[in-house]
Amino acid sequence: MYKAKAYSAGSATSPLASTTIERRDPTENDVQIEILFCGICHSDLHQVRNEWSNVMPTVYPCVPGHEIVGRVTRVGSAVTKFKPGDLAAVGCMVDSDRTCPECQAGLEQFCPNLTLTYNFPDKHLGGVTYGGYSDSVVVDQRFVLRVPSNLDLAGTAPLLCAGITTYSPMRHWGVTKGKKVGVVGLGGLGHMGVKFAHALGAHVVAFTTSPGKKEDALRLGADEVAVSRNADEMQKHTGSFDFILDAVSADHDINAYIQLLRRDGNITLVGAPEKPLAVAAFGLLFGRRSLSGSPIGGIPQTQEMLDFCGSHNITADVEVIPVQKVNEAYERLVKSDVKYRFSIDMASLKAE
Ligand code: NAP
Ligand code: ZN
Repeated sequence: MYKAKAYSAGSATSPLASTTIERRDPTENDVQIEILFCGICHSDLHQVRNEWSNVMPTVYPCVPGHEIVGRVTRVGSAVTKFKPGDLAAVGCMVDSDRTCPECQAGLEQFCPNLTLTYNFPDKHLGGVTYGGYSDSVVVDQRFVLRVPSNLDLAGTAPLLCAGITTYSPMRHWGVTKGKKVGVVGLGGLGHMGVKFAHALGAHVVAFTTSPGKKEDALRLGADEVAVSRNADEMQKHTGSFDFILDAVSADHDINAYIQLLRRDGNITLVGAPEKPLAVAAFGLLFGRRSLSGSPIGGIPQTQEMLDFCGSHNITADVEVIPVQKVNEAYERLVKSDVKYRFSIDMASLKAE
């Protein structure tokens, strides 16, 4: 074991603060990574504040962070995928059973014995796993991704959650040229959703509650933008979408979007608000529309997404911050005041 620097929360109401945690020494299949950047996902905030207490209660101290990019510093004797000095990335998962049908299909996100990157039982050290708000991490090579060399690293970190979470359902629901696709909520996930839908050739409409994000939405790749609080701007899209991705973090009226789907259209939730959403049955019945959800994505598809980003030169739009600003960043995230993802420069942790 060795000591690593980290930022952790001690309770649902306390700010994150500097701490020291234990990490395992790399075993034969492990990769040790010096973390260079870690994105701030709204899930980090939900988890730190125990907003998902019914589903995934938070164990404190909690070290969040699952959008990790860094450089390999050590590898175990059986590691073939990486060598010291390589760039490497880790997303929301660090282990699974590898034997179940889901794992064999490369859909580790559905494995019944999945280990998430933080706040999950740690098989090696006991306690829970600690995430990427830290200067290093040790992960089995199967869960470590390769990073295309042409991409900016601060903007690459968010691809590991915001990227794969939006890319995966778009691939599943067949987003391609000729499809009309909506993206709801221009936050970390939503802005990636707009970039991917555009890169996949769809006609993209961004829905936002923030009129100030209109111009950005067009720059990010939207063909049209609708301010969702404006009834006329919503109305004109009634019955027209093949697919809508809902990436909203808070309570909102999903029925307003269900109405916008065409026959057999689908709306997929990737946002995970604290409270249940009310769904009016008739919106789904008329038009045989469907509502579904989607969690992150499997390891092979995460690599595919990173390679897609490498060849299309796609990264997240980030505001780079030192780790000391993380609590301020959380306050701004709640107010939808970030364009469009905070990325923590982990070199700042050296000052602690
Ligand atoms: P984020 O950056 O905070 O973005 C959320 C966006 O939702 C905001 O930018 C805002 O967009 C919109 N919004 C916020 N409050 C709203 C309200 N009251 N009514 C309507 N719209 C509102 O968050 P994120 O990191 O992208 O995450 C979004 C959600 O996805 C979170 O719940 C997160 O936990 C979840 N998530 C799920 C997965 C998964 O595997 N499914 C993975 C990662 C994250 P506008 O300003 O444009 O309206
Ligand atoms: Zn996330």
